[in-house]
Amino acid sequence: MLETVDILIERGTLLTLDRERRILTDGAIAIRADRIIAVGKTADIKKQYTAGKIIDASSRVVMPGLVDGHAHLNEIARGLIPDDLKTSDWLKYWCYPYFAATTAEDEYWYSQCLIAEMIRSGTTCFAEPGCKFLPSIVKSIEKSGIRATTGSWVWDHGGPDGQKCPEYFLKMSLKECLELTENNIKSFNGAANGRIKIFATIEGVGTCSDDLMIGTKELADRYGTSTLMHKASSREEVAAEMRVTGHRPVEHMYKIGVLGPNVFLNHMTAVDGYEVEYLAETDTKVCQNPPAALKLAKGTTQMGKFLEMRKAGVTVALGCDGVNSGDHKDMFRAMYLAATLPKDARIDASVITAEEVIEMATLNGYRATGWDKDLGVLEAGRKADMILIDIDRPEFVPTYNYVYSLVYTASGDCVDTVIVDGKILMEGRELTTIDLAEVRAHCRELAPQLLTRSNVKPVSRWPIV
Ligand SMILES: [Zn+2]
Repeated sequence: MLETVDILIERGTLLTLDRERRILTDGAIAIRADRIIAVGKTADIKKQYTAGKIIDASSRVVMPGLVDGHAHLNEIARGLIPDDLKTSDWLKYWCYPYFAATTAEDEYWYSQCLIAEMIRSGTTCFAEPGCKFLPSIVKSIEKSGIRATTGSWVWDHGGPDGQKCPEYFLKMSLKECLELTENNIKSFNGAANGRIKIFATIEGVGTCSDDLMIGTKELADRYGTSTLMHKASSREEVAAEMRVTGHRPVEHMYKIGVLGPNVFLNHMTAVDGYEVEYLAETDTKVCQNPPAALKLAKGTTQMGKFLEMRKAGVTVALGCDGVNSGDHKDMFRAMYLAATLPKDARIDASVITAEEVIEMATLNGYRATGWDKDLGVLEAGRKADMILIDIDRPEFVPTYNYVYSLVYTASGDCVDTVIVDGKILMEGRELTTIDLAEVRAHCRELAPQLLTRSNVKPVSRWPIV
């Protein structure tokens, strides 16, 4: 008598990411509700299970879903900001005014569009570094079926670079920041069958007081969640911190006791060798965002210490960043950069491998977001989050190594089917939870209104006639 499950994926090539990193040919996966029930050879699995929904994966590679470790949902002004600005001007004169003008409705519809872009390129989980209207974002994540961490973006203008924010912009006291963060955790942490985690999301780059970093760390410890912030993102930030505290940003965090396993530091381009030791000692998590680092000229190839971090045992996840900075949400493009930039920077092809980069985009991402016990591996008992890649596309014909082709050749367009929490979010590239036509219509209607409110003017170096 066959046991009935909800979904049976059969005859696929499975990148299991299990302890031995087995690549299973002619493999099958049985899914019941939100969990993987069994993984094995198709013949063996079919002796035991049947399902209402059977997916023929004979021309598919199946792998755990990708994690975008830094995915702003409030950066929604594609093509608005000139591509030749230094980060401080980029923030002060473009990003902040635009962000300040967004409404709850804007955040809902634009986040639907960004999540659609993520699902369509194989991202099943992301870390959102802080939004303005949390209930809108929670609703959007809930409806889309994706998995994410999020929170309210707060700062108290108390750090070494506190004056860089306009006075009017999200000015909050320390007490208000902490109360909002705690209320968010109480209201939404664990929502949507556990698909949503609320992190203590503070801006971090010089705009937050020591007391805010200490307070949010205490909240994260108390509620079993994490703090996430931008840190060591540029030379300018390091200089400002040195002037005020006498220490580099990561060093300063170490001195005041706010590093730890549940602390997720994003960007981390301007880190010194001795700071890597502090990260390793405290098991602090890091996210590298090559698309944004390159476009904003952070110097990642010249001073990045991600290889040293990895060597020291630090968990380094991978992210794209928002679409004002990295300009796309395709983790395959981020993986390509994470694999190739260090090779060229060190003039040594052996410094990182395609396998290690896939681990960054899966296992390390889940570890950094605290989901590693449930996710990142295709094996029985884990949550059913996975992507199916179409290997009938010319990019894979022929290939002798799927891992190489996924990292060096593929783009997000190669993703055919996406499953999160046992639910199909895309099949045959058709989204099942997001109505793209509806989302497009809302975004196009809202965009000019937002532009007018923000008082930011798009530029074009070429005449538009
Ligand atoms: Zn960011």
